[in-house]
Amino acid sequence: MRSLFLAGFMGTGKSTIGPRAAARLGIPFVDTDEIIAHEAGVSIPELWQREGEAKFRDREAAVVRRYLDEAPHVVALGGGSLLLRNLRHAVLDRATVITLTADAPEILRRVGDVSTRPNLAGADPLERIRELLAAREGSYAECHAQLATDGFDADDVASAACAVVQRDPIVLPLGNRTYTVDVVNDAPEALTDAIARTAPSSLVIVTDTTVRRARGHVLDRALSHLAISRIDVTLPPGEDQKSITTAQTIWDAALGARVDRETLVVAFGGGVTSDLAGFAASTLLRGVRLITVPTTLLAMVDASVGGKTGFDHPAGKNLVGTIHQPRAVVIDVAHLSTLPVREMRAGLAEVVKIALVTSEALFQKLEVAGASLLDPKSPALLEVIRDAVTLKARIVRDDELEGGKRALLNLGHTVAHGLEAHTAYRKYLHGEAVALGLCAELEIMAERGFTPRELVDRTRRLLMALGLATHAPRDELRAAARFVMTDKKRRGATLAFPVVMALGSAEVRQVPLDLLDRP
Ligand code: NAD
Repeated sequence: MRSLFLAGFMGTGKSTIGPRAAARLGIPFVDTDEIIAHEAGVSIPELWQREGEAKFRDREAAVVRRYLDEAPHVVALGGGSLLLRNLRHAVLDRATVITLTADAPEILRRVGDVSTRPNLAGADPLERIRELLAAREGSYAECHAQLATDGFDADDVASAACAVVQRDPIVLPLGNRTYTVDVVNDAPEALTDAIARTAPSSLVIVTDTTVRRARGHVLDRALSHLAISRIDVTLPPGEDQKSITTAQTIWDAALGARVDRETLVVAFGGGVTSDLAGFAASTLLRGVRLITVPTTLLAMVDASVGGKTGFDHPAGKNLVGTIHQPRAVVIDVAHLSTLPVREMRAGLAEVVKIALVTSEALFQKLEVAGASLLDPKSPALLEVIRDAVTLKARIVRDDELEGGKRALLNLGHTVAHGLEAHTAYRKYLHGEAVALGLCAELEIMAERGFTPRELVDRTRRLLMALGLATHAPRDELRAAARFVMTDKKRRGATLAFPVVMALGSAEVRQVPLDLLDRP
């Protein structure tokens, strides 16, 4: 179990909820303000006055970091403890963070004597509370869940907090657009709850006919507990559906049903479905909410997280699209039980990619588990999916709009997109093209002395163990190079290209466009 850190403004109930949650979870409770005051031997207002806010924050950060290394605790934080981005993200990586909320007048009522609160000094404490809440809104939103405490019973809030700890979602902290990714096994209620949390006016369910046939009953079970009207847009399957025409089909169905701004689009399917449904959601009524429910391995580890949406154009793959983050992602590995093994292999190619650029440990896990990962029931697979999502989430958190390190996730994709476009999206599954692209791009960089030669061989061995091809025909590679001119990563005569320097460590370099001409 992870520790539970309770964040939020003063007076939101952290020290009321904390001991109750700790008792339920059977772990100790601590309050960082009490620890700081005890260690300094003076009260917090005195310390604040004596040392100033900056020094106080240093003390706070040291206590927070200490409890990250301890056995699980419930930790009530000071209201400003997680305002520093790096510290907040370190806590989000290692603990469950819940922000407690209450409205400004209720906070003022609970705080009582404002003279003991140095941060509320001034003529109008209510106005000051409002100012601070507005300034901190984005930081407070970066958490695993926000729970309102005004008007709610403290025991109910404590048990809701414990349920989040048990759920153990992965968080993608993006200010007010923060969302969580649940990874579950055969738990349709995870989707029911995720939809209920968004309280939508209606649902637009986007899926494809194959997924509808194979997994529709699970979706229906999840939705049967919700009294929300729905329309279903069930598309033909396949990459060749990724076009403006299909986006139009989704728009037409949704607008025909008179959806409003509170509608929720649910993308239930593979990466093609989430790319298209995400694009439709980002453009319908200038943007409505989206939940992605990936049913392929590739969509679980990659396409459903990070907000990239769009479709293909005759000039190349994914050339038109938007970035529109989902409100939640619900990964249920049980969906993989009906996925053909060829699709499982294709999904693992994206996991190998993520491991190559971010994590030696994940790469080693893949080597150890090998072909056992093709069994959807393998416990190692669930772990690998969680790892891959966590690593991708960290990259997106740091570079949502791909101004820098997010481009690392394009490793293998320059060649892959060229191969797919050249073969009219019919010969290779996306992940199969990625496996070929990984080998070709690592090879090019090994020839230039950047990527260690033994890593190219090791990657080929891993991909082969997972049942993936590692050598594309030369003529196809040459033809794929033509598509570099329309690659999104092109800037004038150069291309932003991920270069693996060592296993799990990569950097983006600007390389000349003719790089791929000589495979
Ligand atoms: P896909 O959506 O075409 O799904 C593959 C096939 O599996 C389809 O025929 C589908 O009907 C079927 N299927 C899906 N789930 C199933 C299940 N549980 N049981 C049985 N059959 C099932 O392809 P994909 O591989 O999931 O995704 C590839 C697409 O994702 C590409 O277009 C790629 O560009 C895109 N992608 C996007 C991102 C992103 O960040 N947006 C990242 C990676 C890939």
